Amino acid sequence: MTRYCLFDLDGTLTDPETGIVASLRHALSAVGIAEVEHGRLRSMIGPPLQDGLLRLGVPRDRVADAIDAYRERFTAGGMFENEVIPGIPAVLEALVDGGWTLAVATSKPAVFAARILDHFGLDGYFTYVGGATLDGSRRHKADVVRHALAVLAAPPEAAVMVGDRLEDVAGAAACGVPCVAVTWGFGEAAELEAAGVVAMVDTPARLLDVLSQTAAGGPGGGPGGGTAGNGRAPARPGL
Ligand SMILES: [Mg+2]
Repeated sequence: MTRYCLFDLDGTLTDPETGIVASLRHALSAVGIAEVEHGRLRSMIGPPLQDGLLRLGVPRDRVADAIDAYRERFTAGGMFENEVIPGIPAVLEALVDGGWTLAVATSKPAVFAARILDHFGLDGYFTYVGGATLDGSRRHKADVVRHALAVLAAPPEAAVMVGDRLEDVAGAAACGVPCVAVTWGFGEAAELEAAGVVAMVDTPARLLDVLSQTAAGGPGGGPGGGTAGNGRAPARPGL
């Protein structure tokens, strides 16, 4: 059976902190909000931008202006103030060589994700780059994952998600897809443990080991396999 792996982008494949934090500061200052602490901005990396701006205090009727300002800074260079996580290209190459079909499932607009992957030479590994729409009508992770699975014609039981935030775990679970969490991103260990991940991995090499086990029917899926040994998708946190 073909195995499908859906990767989150920010914090999972790359470290986009510098560019995203700078773009958020630009967006907030455009709507009159200044002096937001770095940690709060950093914690916004992953969830949909619209929702994060509201949480940072942007009035609902100014969110569109803030997004315009964010994208102005982001497309002027912020998207490339970003680094590939060392060891990730080797993991992607090994998975493709092993017959996996890879896709990206990000809450970032797909057009930006595609440019970032192209810039860093990662685009060739992915059969499909799934992301948000620019108008935000599709932005939550469950909708992105569902969309990517549909485009790939991938059955959920043949897929696994890899991400760094609660949204990745919960969004995948809502689609019946187990999730492996990486610890080098922006999620707190407690948020990921509470979300019911199949495994947490500290290094790209360990990620490859765990994915290879799922393909062999070990933890998380594969023919005859099951999530956490019970054959069901992980619990849906908060639902
Ligand atoms: Mg992420």
